[in-house]
Amino acid sequence: MPANTEQLDLLIIGAGPAGISAADAAAREGLNYLVVEKGLLADTIYHYPIGQTVFSTPEELELRDGALQPCREKPTREELLDHYVRFVLEHNLRINTGEAALKIERAEPEGFIVHTDRNQYRALRVLVAVGGMAHPRRLNVPGEDLPKAHHRFVESYPYVRRDALVVGGGNSAAEAALFLSEGGARTTFAIWRSDWTNRDPKMGAIKHWVRDPLARQIELGRLRLLFFKEILEISDQYVRVKRDDGEVITLVNDVVF
Ligand SMILES: Cc1cc2nc3c(=O)[nH]c(=O)nc-3n(C[C@H](O)[C@H](O)[C@H](O)COP(=O)(O)OP(=O)(O)OC[C@H]3O[C@@H](n4cnc5c(N)ncnc54)[C@H](O)[C@@H]3O)c2cc1C
Repeated sequence: MPANTEQLDLLIIGAGPAGISAADAAAREGLNYLVVEKGLLADTIYHYPIGQTVFSTPEELELRDGALQPCREKPTREELLDHYVRFVLEHNLRINTGEAALKIERAEPEGFIVHTDRNQYRALRVLVAVGGMAHPRRLNVPGEDLPKAHHRFVESYPYVRRDALVVGGGNSAAEAALFLSEGGARTTFAIWRSDWTNRDPKMGAIKHWVRDPLARQIELGRLRLLFFKEILEISDQYVRVKRDDGEVITLVNDVVF
């Protein structure tokens, strides 16, 4: 592995909003810094569903006051990506994309050596800004590795008139169920009863602007809400689910998220 002998003041791992903002601060302080990013700029946001409107308002997301000006009250995935990418280009931030940090070691007499899949760097300080989205939570059930089982929802179009099952209790699952249902998929949303009855925003309740249209889809009979205990098995044509009353049911199924 080639050794980079340049001594950095700061090596930042991850070019999400936190890493980009840290790079901006480092540049303004005149530090010799570098960001390594294993994917693309703002990779987590890049993987949001296409056309998604985010929950946060521009003031909470923008890197300079007034720099993020969405068409509506809140920005879409595309507007947010455009903001971060333009910011990096305009400020010529030093970011290597497609380079994953693998290991951090202490260096003598001070600082660290960071090993990546392309290089190794000496840095006085290392900032780990890798976010929390890299490893999806798995169900750990048979069939989860079938091509029809996904850990990320991108868009509803391929699933028009298909039997879709969404499993989860948070906003991402609720939004996926909503988009699929509105987009014409025959959608079942499997959720723990406690997650559905939770209305406390401080306890991670589904945001009301997702829940309200979701409830409308349920009322209209376009979306089926299934209180479940456990997903037992995913197969090519079915999913076996234990409901929260203990009964095991088999759902006809084309795709699972
Ligand atoms: C659908 C969806 C909607 C969301 N909406 C909102 C919202 O409205 N408001 C909000 O505040 N949050 C929202 N979030 C959460 C939001 O994405 C995170 O809060 C935000 O991305 C965190 O920024 P970050 O820079 O800390 O981490 P991330 O954006 O996750 O960035 C971390 C980066 O580190 C990189 N990385 C990881 N490991 C390595 C490695 N070993 N080497 C190099 N690079 C590495 C990753 O590729 C990634 O680019 C949403 C999430 C989802 C999934």
